[in-house]
Amino acid sequence: MRSDLVSTRGVSRMIGDRQVDAATAPRRVDAASAWEYVECNLCGGDATRPVATQRGLGIVRCRACGLVYVNPRPPAGELTALYADYHGRDGQDESSWDRLMSRVFREAAELLCSTRTASGRARLLDVGCGFGGFIDLMRQRGWDAEGVDPAPSAVEVATRRGRAVRLGTLEGFPAERGPYDAVTMFYVLEHLPDPMGALRKVFDLLVPGGTLLVRVPHTTPIVRLLAPLGLGGELYDPPFHLYDFTPAVLQEMLRRTGFRAARTFPGQPTIPARLGPRLAAAFFGAVATGLHAATRGSVLLPGVSKSTLARKPLR
Ligand SMILES: [Zn+2]
Repeated sequence: MRSDLVSTRGVSRMIGDRQVDAATAPRRVDAASAWEYVECNLCGGDATRPVATQRGLGIVRCRACGLVYVNPRPPAGELTALYADYHGRDGQDESSWDRLMSRVFREAAELLCSTRTASGRARLLDVGCGFGGFIDLMRQRGWDAEGVDPAPSAVEVATRRGRAVRLGTLEGFPAERGPYDAVTMFYVLEHLPDPMGALRKVFDLLVPGGTLLVRVPHTTPIVRLLAPLGLGGELYDPPFHLYDFTPAVLQEMLRRTGFRAARTFPGQPTIPARLGPRLAAAFFGAVATGLHAATRGSVLLPGVSKSTLARKPLR
């Protein structure tokens, strides 16, 4: 099998006959199809070391820059198909997503309003907006907010509720819709096949001085912690998640894109519906925030989600 995996710098190779455990493979990933070998999205390197194998997919870490990613991975068409009912996973619906994200959204709204310096009606694009809960919140605060999401079922609900949401990907988003004063990406970047391309697109969509707010999970430290106990087998959630970022790696991606003054902080945790994950999120969120505050921002607890705020330079 691995003999099919030819790693050649600058060339993406298609991989065949990869074995997938049918019992654990997510729906609609076609195990028989060719998988795509990709190089490091940040530095272009292809020297990696294995981190884990989850749901039959290998997760590797770039030896040069530290980016963690799924490799090889299902081709783009299959990845897009995964999002047909993404927001309905585990019986979730609009109200459960709103509740899950409520503290994250509230904090982001306050942050964007307080850091806005220009006058006039501000424009916001929420990338991967799902049902559009954040768009509603920002409209209530006087922003001209809109969103884009590749999940038809979520966009249908958002549109029915009068939210300005476009069905599609950031990649296909029309540049002439910009510029925006702020772009938000809550738990989105880890899903995208080309996060550097996505950040470049966002950079182009922003006004000079515009703000980007990114929130991503950080799974690798938890996997390292749990692996010796035989736990954490699906924590990376591949192939929904294709990447895992340390704060340093994400900041480097932003710097290379042209963003400046990137600041990473723990931020408010999500509120999962199930009690165990909810208590864990609240506990580790509080520890992360406390540690960050007690060390005046110098310590970020590994393994919990974090937000990063970055600015496009004025010129
Ligand atoms: Zn790299």
